[in-house]
Amino acid sequence: KMLATDQDPIAAIATAAGRGGIGVVRLSFGRQSPTAVHSVIQAVCAQPLTPRHAHYCGFVDAQGGVLDRGIALYFPSPHSYTGEAVLELQAHGGPVVMQLLLQRCLEAGHPFGLRVAEPGEFTRRAFLNDKLDLAQAEAIADLIEASTEAAARSAARSLDGAFSRLVHALVDDVINLRMLVEATLDFPEEEIDFLEAANARGKLASIRTSLERVLADARQGALLREGLSVVLAGEPNVGKSSLLNALAGAELAIVTPIAGTTRDKVAQTIQIEGIPLHVIDTAGLRDTEDEVERIGIERTWHEIGRADVVLHLLDARTGMDAGNEDIATRFPAGVPILRVINKIDLAGETASVSDDEQGNAVEVRLSARGGEGIDLLRASLLKIAGWQPGGEDVFLARERHLSALRAAAEHLALANEHAEQRSQSLDLFAEELRLAQDQLNSITGEFGSDDLLGVIFSRFCIGK
Ligand code: GDP
Ligand code: ZN
Repeated sequence: KMLATDQDPIAAIATAAGRGGIGVVRLSFGRQSPTAVHSVIQAVCAQPLTPRHAHYCGFVDAQGGVLDRGIALYFPSPHSYTGEAVLELQAHGGPVVMQLLLQRCLEAGHPFGLRVAEPGEFTRRAFLNDKLDLAQAEAIADLIEASTEAAARSAARSLDGAFSRLVHALVDDVINLRMLVEATLDFPEEEIDFLEAANARGKLASIRTSLERVLADARQGALLREGLSVVLAGEPNVGKSSLLNALAGAELAIVTPIAGTTRDKVAQTIQIEGIPLHVIDTAGLRDTEDEVERIGIERTWHEIGRADVVLHLLDARTGMDAGNEDIATRFPAGVPILRVINKIDLAGETASVSDDEQGNAVEVRLSARGGEGIDLLRASLLKIAGWQPGGEDVFLARERHLSALRAAAEHLALANEHAEQRSQSLDLFAEELRLAQDQLNSITGEFGSDDLLGVIFSRFCIGK
């Protein structure tokens, strides 16, 4: 999984673009010798550095002129972020100072092949040098990009290894079972007895139970990261924009009493209990001759098809009339639809929720203008999203992790089928266990293609 370029010395501005009190230029020296490292340190800092000590020094150019003064830190390999020799230069955080300092480092490191780092390359090194596993490396990007406090806290938990530990425990269990089965494969005539004596099926069942639990937790974690896309749909003037404002608690969309004014989609990310909700206000659905409006309506149907949840808004005074029946029949199957009966104040009703037989909310009666029932809608949305209250200590997870966990679960289910068949196709049983393990390993990166690594690390910002 190492590329030739993974051995180059690299440098980058590690702090955000723009002005700040402090800016950091970071260097990681790849496979370069300590002599090369010291030569760069001497050239830029004009003094030797004691490992892991803060040195206040001048950063000098080739002529000995001082570019800036700041703190230099030297972390010899392997005790650094990347596991390689690392130099961190903290200077004043202006874009020009940072550029000058970076250029100076590149100049001093030129004889050793020092180059500018690609996005995510420092973290990639940390991963390649076993400082972190892949799930933890992803957690760093997620922590940096977290849009809510809950997402940030759970990313920190993943970075700390909460998720990786669960995955490792699963992998260990699968490995133990595989060893048992592989050993049995060598003694075909004893297959059945041996597996039964060792309770192989019982072990498989318990792994499957643990995996389901991890998957449930990971689903919560992915929800925190990815959020939920909610589309507001309904006839013109039923109160879609007003509802978006009520949910967001601010004046975001344009609210007007003229039918057909929300032609373009207005997307807004709001949060409910830390879950990001990407709410899309849409053009009112109705028959129209207006070409521009028709394009808006087409786009609305497109958004509806891609939504996690659709809120079908109706006016309490008309309710589910023929026009709305018509809209309802056109909703795609598979997308949860929540009917929202708005303007209950005008119909003299009180706020309420009704559930179907499975306990899923199907209808909320509220007033977007007065705010009655908005809390019921929020709670219903969380429930539809599958958010479990008390999920405060979840770890952050990604869609990639969910698909790996789901694939692993499928392989274990197949393994179970093979075990249940009286023919006892032990080879197939063993093979499914192996495939399940590969899937689990791909989460932490113990098994993963270069493509996968490329995709993950290229989404980082430079200097991370
Ligand atoms: P949209 O076209 O579906 O986006 O509807 P708007 O949000 O623009 O609202 C249309 C009109 O209905 C505006 O005058 C709103 O003030 C009004 N309206 C929206 N929600 C309510 C409500 O709950 N009660 C009352 N009385 N009026 C509402
Ligand atoms: Zn509107």
